[in-house]
Amino acid sequence: MKTRRLGKTGLEVSEIGFGGEWLERHPEEEGIELIHYASSKGINILDCWMADPKSRDIIGKGIKDNRSEWFIQGHIGSTWKDNQYYRTRDMKYVRPAFEDLLKRLQTDYIDLGMIHYIDSEEEWENIQHSDYMDYVMELKNTGVIRHIGMSSHNPKVAIKAAESGFVEMILFSINPAFDMLPASENIDTMFAEEFDSNLKGIDPERARLYKVCEQNDVGITVMKGFAGGRLFDEKRSPFGVTLTPVQCVHYALTRPAVCSIMCGYDTKEQVDAAVAYEISSEEEKDYASVLANAPLHSYRGECTYCGHCKPCVSDLDIAMINKFYDLATMQPKVPATVQSHYELLEHKASECIGCQACESRCPFGVPIAERMKKTAELFGC
Ligand code: SF4
Ligand code: SF4
Repeated sequence: MKTRRLGKTGLEVSEIGFGGEWLERHPEEEGIELIHYASSKGINILDCWMADPKSRDIIGKGIKDNRSEWFIQGHIGSTWKDNQYYRTRDMKYVRPAFEDLLKRLQTDYIDLGMIHYIDSEEEWENIQHSDYMDYVMELKNTGVIRHIGMSSHNPKVAIKAAESGFVEMILFSINPAFDMLPASENIDTMFAEEFDSNLKGIDPERARLYKVCEQNDVGITVMKGFAGGRLFDEKRSPFGVTLTPVQCVHYALTRPAVCSIMCGYDTKEQVDAAVAYEISSEEEKDYASVLANAPLHSYRGECTYCGHCKPCVSDLDIAMINKFYDLATMQPKVPATVQSHYELLEHKASECIGCQACESRCPFGVPIAERMKKTAELFGC
């Protein structure tokens, strides 16, 4: 299992993670065994957004023998009221629910203390000076949470968090279908039966989020990587084609700043299927050709950093150069950090001889030679 550095948290998290939300539908022993099994396969990050006692107890028993080997995303504001999940900032519920999380997880610390689920910009502003935020800071200052994270589905809110300086990582919903959708405060728009057929390519706000996270060294972990399974069904997929789990995992893991994808598991076989990503061939991971040839929607002309254009006769890392170009052009002036990272590349865009040999391999019709010329002009080398 490969690991990636989760941005400024510095934690080395497994590329494939464990989203805990399906544990609740299993007998306790089965759930515990699934967690042990995932751990034996190298999975070391687990998301617990759930407030229900059963899931929390299962996780506590599942991680107790090797707690120190796990990184737990534990949510602050996910509470349990009248036997139901209840999202709130009301400290009357928030504090006991977080204390319950520690108790049931049989631990005295949470690696990633998550500001739970903020999709509204107004709510983000409102919590800045609130007893809720005081509590988050108190947990951080006393070491009960080691790092501050946030979960969101709205790129506008996530960008604010990434730029805040104190949010160190973000749990965000990412898959090729959601990536086309404009920012919304209403998560239901993501699961609408009909996608707007006028949508094309990655929504600029989402593309910006990934770049802002990369720039600010804010790592992303992914939820909803399979769009609730609809991408596996050509009739329900907005692309009109079927993607495999491995292709969806690869899509998520090739977005800038993404470190790990939290998959939900019902069986050991499903754990195996997700972990199989690690030994999959490039052909098996290839979401790009599938999307490029899909009857619906188009990513034409946009670089998705998929790397299909390799090899370059001048040894350029085209995907990386395109990433730096996109990062730099987001700002009125090229940021010094991007300039210096670009300069560290062994081969610069100025070495492009304009042969266009790579262009026929790009599934998205990116005018690469032209982009290399623009990049060389932008960075001056
Ligand atoms: S056009 Fe430029 S980037 Fe593409 S293969 Fe030729 S030298 Fe490499
Ligand atoms: S230029 Fe095309 S093939 Fe190369 S990384 Fe970008 S999208 Fe992929």
